[in-house]
Amino acid sequence: MIIGAGGVASVIIHKCCHNSEVFDEIMIASRTEAKCSQLKQKLENTTKTKITAAEIDADDTEKLIALMKEYKPYMVINAALPYQDLTIMDACLASGAHYLDTANYEPRDIAKFEYKWQWAYREKFEKAGLTAVLGCGFDPGVTGVFSAYAQKRHFDEIEYIDILDANAGDHGYPFATNFNPEINIREITAKGSYWENGAFIETEALEIKKSYNFPEIGEKDMYLLHHEELESLALNIKGIKRIRFFMTFSPNYLTHLKVLENVGMTSIEPIEFEGQKIIPLQFLKAILPDPASLGPRTKGKTNIGCIYRGKKGGIPKNYYLYNVCDHEKCYVEVGSQAISYTTGVPAMIGAMMVHNGKWKKPGVYNVEEFDPDPFMEALNKWGLPWKECFEPDLVD
Ligand code: NDP
Repeated sequence: MIIGAGGVASVIIHKCCHNSEVFDEIMIASRTEAKCSQLKQKLENTTKTKITAAEIDADDTEKLIALMKEYKPYMVINAALPYQDLTIMDACLASGAHYLDTANYEPRDIAKFEYKWQWAYREKFEKAGLTAVLGCGFDPGVTGVFSAYAQKRHFDEIEYIDILDANAGDHGYPFATNFNPEINIREITAKGSYWENGAFIETEALEIKKSYNFPEIGEKDMYLLHHEELESLALNIKGIKRIRFFMTFSPNYLTHLKVLENVGMTSIEPIEFEGQKIIPLQFLKAILPDPASLGPRTKGKTNIGCIYRGKKGGIPKNYYLYNVCDHEKCYVEVGSQAISYTTGVPAMIGAMMVHNGKWKKPGVYNVEEFDPDPFMEALNKWGLPWKECFEPDLVD
């Protein structure tokens, strides 16, 4: 069962349909039934996968449990929003389904994402004999798998990780976000942070700026952000001294964002408007382009990857693992831009890993806690081939 019918969900659904040997039956369940039916109609004559569409508000745990008890999914992929993570995990426990998501839980009224709420479900999933895979998109997701792979294959000890997320795509709009605008803007306007010597060091939002010459994309300005995989990698990569996350933004994007912030449009504090309470950021989301509609307009490439520094056999070693993804090729294949594509493909692969038993173990896990090898192989097969470089430019 795939919950959500937006940009990321659409890619997951397309890829499940391309992989009908594993996904012989899927249900698309989301808040707006019309979007589910549209996807079903588009795909059902092109695939052997049997598709069912249903309307569900995943904030309503009881209704979700009833739907799941009726449909009996083997697994639920949460491609709705981080606000729904806990209700969907509860419904999985109540109806005996495995769980996977691409973003960690975030309460609606505080712009703060942390794993503690979902890690608190570990014992419940263990006792129920169910697997929950957390953060299985690209970042988080592939960045964790890359880290487990680097650790397993290339290092005795990883000391430094820099995660670099570059998008050189152009959609032609003055301002739009590549995934859900509300979640995206909450992330970027929050304080930055990085992990160093056992603690998070906080920075002002977008305070640290660097420049990097990305393979196949070129020189880009990038900014340090807090990002959720910092929290799990700090625990799971033994001996790590520092982890940073950088994302590229164009000057045009940042100017628009600054103006919107200055006039209060990115605030999540409710305001009174014509007799009703509205949240400015939710209003902004309603007038910005839908990320799912950017596919036909976006040209250019993304480059997302990790630079590792550490030691092998006592000798210092550097290693860069990355994927380059072309927006237009993604559109031709699944009708979406590369941000949705690079998130949706790993989610499909993660679900396949649980189904084929390679990542099936009762409990709640981040992706770097599983064997990276079968996932790395599947990335090459299912549209996100990776490249490696042993003499990368380093971020200072
Ligand atoms: P969209 O806004 O395009 O899609 C969200 C979908 O979820 C919509 O179909 C929406 O329904 C549905 N939805 C929202 N609330 C509910 C609810 N209560 N019950 C049922 N369905 C609901 O977002 P994206 O596809 O861009 O992003 C999806 C997720 O992917 C986000 O959590 C985002 O953080 C994550 N993400 C992860 C990345 C990674 O690399 N790990 C990268 C990019 C995104 P409706 O159509 O009615 O609005």
